[in-house]
Amino acid sequence: MKPSHIEHIGIAVKNLDEQIEYYQKVLGLTCYNVEEVADQKVKTAFFMVGETKIELLESTDPEGPIGKYIEKKGVGIHHIAFAVDKAQDFLDNADKNGVQLIDKTPRKGAEGLNIAFLHPKSTHGVLTEICENPNK
Ligand code: ZN
Repeated sequence: MKPSHIEHIGIAVKNLDEQIEYYQKVLGLTCYNVEEVADQKVKTAFFMVGETKIELLESTDPEGPIGKYIEKKGVGIHHIAFAVDKAQDFLDNADKNGVQLIDKTPRKGAEGLNIAFLHPKSTHGVLTEICENPNK
């Protein structure tokens, strides 16, 4: 049940291209994937840092979750994602512990992962995602 590592850190950005340039030029990382997740109304860009990814999120719609987040809180760290073996077991246990779940069952996220979110009201202000790699 315990997460194996931080799968990624999600960062809300206004301009994906500018931010990609920053991560490549200043941090020396390589953007290895850009993907649109229509379901979440975002375009994402990924960088690998050890076992952990940086996931940049640009909203494709001001009414989408990232668009609304930026309007309310501005750009910056949006969520933290933990890698787990069995997402459903993790969710069931969190549910049992009174955590408010945004997703009661995992759904498909970027990069083919099964993902689910825990509500920040129940996680002391940190929007928390869990990720299960079905190809592992
Ligand atoms: Zn994420």
